[in-house]
Amino acid sequence: MPERETVVVVGAGLMGAGIAYAFASSGCNVILADNSSASLEKALDTISGSFGAGVERGKITPEAAEAGLNAITTAEGVDERANAASLLIETATENLAVKCEIIAEAASRLPPHAVIATNTSALSISEIANACTAPDRVIGMHFFNPVPKMKLVEIILGLETSSETLTRTIEWTGRIGKDHIVVNEAPGFTTSRMSALMGNEAMYMLAEGVASAEDIDKSLRMAFNHPMGPLETGDLTGWDTRLKVLEYLYDVMGERFRPCPLIRKMVKAGRHGRKTGKGVYEYDATGIRIPGSGLKVSL
Ligand code: NAD
Repeated sequence: MPERETVVVVGAGLMGAGIAYAFASSGCNVILADNSSASLEKALDTISGSFGAGVERGKITPEAAEAGLNAITTAEGVDERANAASLLIETATENLAVKCEIIAEAASRLPPHAVIATNTSALSISEIANACTAPDRVIGMHFFNPVPKMKLVEIILGLETSSETLTRTIEWTGRIGKDHIVVNEAPGFTTSRMSALMGNEAMYMLAEGVASAEDIDKSLRMAFNHPMGPLETGDLTGWDTRLKVLEYLYDVMGERFRPCPLIRKMVKAGRHGRKTGKGVYEYDATGIRIPGSGLKVSL
């Protein structure tokens, strides 16, 4: 691949910031787009923090960190600069209409060789691809949070995804130092389907008073060697995003994915997780979890 290719990342939230960082630190120019200037500002802060932490840990030189940060420019949408991009990753809010609109715009602007990827957690790649004029170039690239640390990209094939698009996507994944799995389209793919079910069940247990939040998480960490419990994972993912995924899975796969009412209550209360400072647990201003802060549900 030629040196500095351009990658467009649409959606500058939790995932967009991590994805932009991954590509910028792998030698790409990144255009980070969002319709919220507050999101763009916050994302640049996060990315700058990630580069700074890399320098502190001796993983990159200060010069490389500066070059990486300078390789990122921002935009309010998919504008004419996308004409030069080789890859676009849509990672906006988990909403089909929003994603379809972004992908349709992308297909009209990107050059014919460019891959158009979506980081949806659960939605149909074929349905998103059907919104644009180049469904063969649309593919799922499902990243995990926090992107800089998590090694896997789940690559999802839509009905019309071409083998050339798959080959190029695998190349891109390797280029940012990630491993991959390839799955055929199915609601929630492999990862979200399992993780949503487990997180939902853990919430039902919390709501029923089966055990404390801390002990529900500890059970999976210590009995099954999971690095994080399901409630901690939900706090990291964001319960607003988790609820959207569950609602979709409930809609297409039925009863076993019915969202626990406590998740709805938490989202209404603004307890979205780490990103709002509280979810099942509460976090201090530096993002450190406050001991003993697990949500107590009284009947
Ligand atoms: P987030 O809420 O942190 O960020 C979403 C961003 O999208 C916001 O900044 C919002 O302003 C922006 N946005 C909304 N509509 C837009 C539009 N029309 N154009 C441009 N930007 C727009 O959400 P997130 O957690 O970063 O999730 C983003 C996507 O990644 C979702 O599809 C989610 O399912 C998926 N995902 C999330 C996780 C996770 O752990 N949070 C993991 C894998 C995949």
